[in-house]
Amino acid sequence: MPELPEVEIYARYFERHALRQTVARVRVLDERICGSRNLGRLVGRSFERVRRHGKHFFADAGDVWLHIHFGMSGDLAYFSDAPPRYARLIFDFDNGASLAYEDMRLFGIVDLTSSPVDYILEHELGPDPLELNLRSFRELLANRRGRIKALLLSQNIIAGIGNLYADEALFRSGIHPRRQVDRLSDGEVRSLFRSIRGVLQEAIAFKSRGGDYPGRWLVQHREEGDRCPRCGGTIRRTVVAGRTTYYCARHQK
Ligand SMILES: [Zn+2]
Repeated sequence: MPELPEVEIYARYFERHALRQTVARVRVLDERICGSRNLGRLVGRSFERVRRHGKHFFADAGDVWLHIHFGMSGDLAYFSDAPPRYARLIFDFDNGASLAYEDMRLFGIVDLTSSPVDYILEHELGPDPLELNLRSFRELLANRRGRIKALLLSQNIIAGIGNLYADEALFRSGIHPRRQVDRLSDGEVRSLFRSIRGVLQEAIAFKSRGGDYPGRWLVQHREEGDRCPRCGGTIRRTVVAGRTTYYCARHQK
């Protein structure tokens, strides 16, 4: 499932391949991925810059922006011969190349919006975790109640931390996913902030090199009873905020 690091990589891919080429044609191959607005408006325009906010991707096409949410299996492919198998929408550029939005499972959405800011406000999305500083992170947590993992997953508090990355950041900072937000110490909040940034930035770096995550990451040990790569404790599985959650029973307090 495309999470924030994958969407960042798609944004870089789009930026590298699909900017400053005039859209000659928009081919909708499956209307189920289209939002309500008319994508034909993009004909004759070109994309000038990209932006990512959480798991949302935007490309500036003048007075309108393309918006993509990649759902469960969305991806991009720039090509000049045969379109990829699960292409659902294709932008043909006037230079003969094309960009496909592919999506095997059809949970993604491609549509238009007036601007990323409007989209973020309309959908009440919180700030992107990589745009936060420690002070703004503290302010987000202030006066909140509930379990820390549930808060990390709330898109209207912080946009874009998915289930795996929430577990990974809590694992790295030694915080139990069921901890109450208002009981975290200043040091724990600082550690969690650094862990979120570290996990996401390292994930982007690993993914952009096409590599897998290292064995010291929790994601490589998501199995009940597995051994913690940090302290040798036991990995436990539970449910927090309705999501399957893994944590180390020894070093996450
Ligand atoms: Zn451990």
